[in-house]
Amino acid sequence: MSASLQRGLNVWREVLDAPTASFFSSCVHCGMCADACLFYTETGDPQFTPIHKLKPMQRFWRQEYTLLGRLAKVVGLSEPVTDEELEQWSRLVYDSCTLCGRCSMVCPVGNDLTYMIRKMREGMAVSGHSPEDLVGAVTRTVELGSPMGAKWSTVEAQIRHVEADTGYKVPVDQEGAEYMVIMSAMEVINYPEFLGSLARIFHQAGVTWTLSHEAFEATNAGIQIGVSDLAKEIVSRIVNAAEKLKVKAVISPECGHAFTALRWEGPNLIGRPFKFEVIHILEVLDKLRAEGRLKTDGKLEQTPMTFHDPCQIVRRGGVVQQPRNLLKLVAADLREMTDHGVMNWCCGGGGGVSANERAEELKFKAFKRKKTQLEELGVNVMVTACANCRTTMEDGIEHYGMNVEVKSLTEMVAEHLAEE
Ligand code: SF4
Ligand code: SF4
Repeated sequence: MSASLQRGLNVWREVLDAPTASFFSSCVHCGMCADACLFYTETGDPQFTPIHKLKPMQRFWRQEYTLLGRLAKVVGLSEPVTDEELEQWSRLVYDSCTLCGRCSMVCPVGNDLTYMIRKMREGMAVSGHSPEDLVGAVTRTVELGSPMGAKWSTVEAQIRHVEADTGYKVPVDQEGAEYMVIMSAMEVINYPEFLGSLARIFHQAGVTWTLSHEAFEATNAGIQIGVSDLAKEIVSRIVNAAEKLKVKAVISPECGHAFTALRWEGPNLIGRPFKFEVIHILEVLDKLRAEGRLKTDGKLEQTPMTFHDPCQIVRRGGVVQQPRNLLKLVAADLREMTDHGVMNWCCGGGGGVSANERAEELKFKAFKRKKTQLEELGVNVMVTACANCRTTMEDGIEHYGMNVEVKSLTEMVAEHLAEE
C-alpha cells in the first residue's frame, strides 16, 4: 500500500463519525437518491447514483468498524481499498458531484449523502486522488490568496474603475464599518460590475462598509477539494481581517460555496464562534428593502424571466424568500421553474466541477436539466445570485446555442435604483 493511500485511509478513520455510521447502516437501497441527482437523471448511468459514489468508503467503514466487515476482510470476501479503485472513484466523487444537497433532501431514512461525500473527498484528497485543477486552485489560494490567481492589485484596479464609474469611494480597511465585503474569484475576474453595484446600493442606503486588503477572497477551494486544514486556513484569513476591523458582519457575496464555508462550516473549522455575523448579500438587500432603505424605480418589463436558486444559498443556506422579495421590486414577469426553491436543480458546476477541466463534458450533460427547465418556461432571462452558477449557465447556454441572458440579482437591483 502506498504511503499516500495509507494517509488517506487514516483520514477516513478520523472523519468517519457516528452520523456517517448511522447513514451507512440505515440505507434501505431504495434508489431514490438516484432520481434526485442530475448526473444520474441526465445520463441514466447507474454509477452516478449518489449512494454508489460512496462505495469504497462504505466498504472501508464496514471493514474497520463492523464485526461482519472485519471477518469478511480476514477471509478475503471483502477487498481492501486500493489506489486504482480511488482513482476510478475520483470521477464519481469530484466530477459528478456538485455537493448540491438534492439527494440528501429525498432520502427516506434521512441520510445526508452530501455530508458523506464531503468526508469521502477528505480521504481522496490526502491520498492524491483529487483532480489536478482543484489541487492547482487550492495551491493558488494558499500562495496567492485566490483560486484564480487574482491578487490585491487586481482588486485595486477594479476599485479605481468603480470609483471613476460611480463617483463613489470604495472604502478599504475602514475600522468600525458595519459590513466587510468579500468577493468570489469569479466576481473579481469575470464580473467587476458586482463591486460597482454594491457601491451604488450602499451609497443610496447609507450603509457603512469596507473591503479588507488582507482578505478579499471568499471562495474556499479547501472545502471544494475536501481538505479541512486548508479550508480552515482560508476561513481564518477572513475571520482575522473582520475581527481586526471590528465589523458587525461579513457579507458573503454571490457565491454559493463561499456562504456555506463561512456561515455554516466556518466556526466549526476554526473551533470557536465568530465575533461577527455572516450574512449573504441577498439577506442584506432584503433587510434594506424591509427597512425602506432600498428604493428602486421601474421593472424589467420586456421579457418574462425566472430565478435559478443556487443550491448552497437556497437549499442549503435557507435564503429562499429574500431573492423573491427582491425580484418583486425589479421583475415585471417572474415565472418559477417547476422545481424551484429548496428542490431546484443544480446548475451542474458547483462543488469544484466548473473548475475541473476533465469534468467539462459531464457538466454539459448535466446542464440539460436546466436547459429543459428553461425551455418549459420559455424565458429569455434567468436571474441568479451565485457567480459560479452564472458562469456555468453562460457556458451551458452557449454550448447548446440557447437565447437566454443570465443576470445577477444584486446587479439587477443596482440597475433599477431610484435616482437620488
Ligand atoms: S450532492 Fe447533488 S450532485 Fe452530489 S450526489 Fe447528491 S444530488 Fe448528485
Ligand atoms: S435514498 Fe437513502 S436509503 Fe435510498 S438508496 Fe439512497 S441513501 Fe439509501
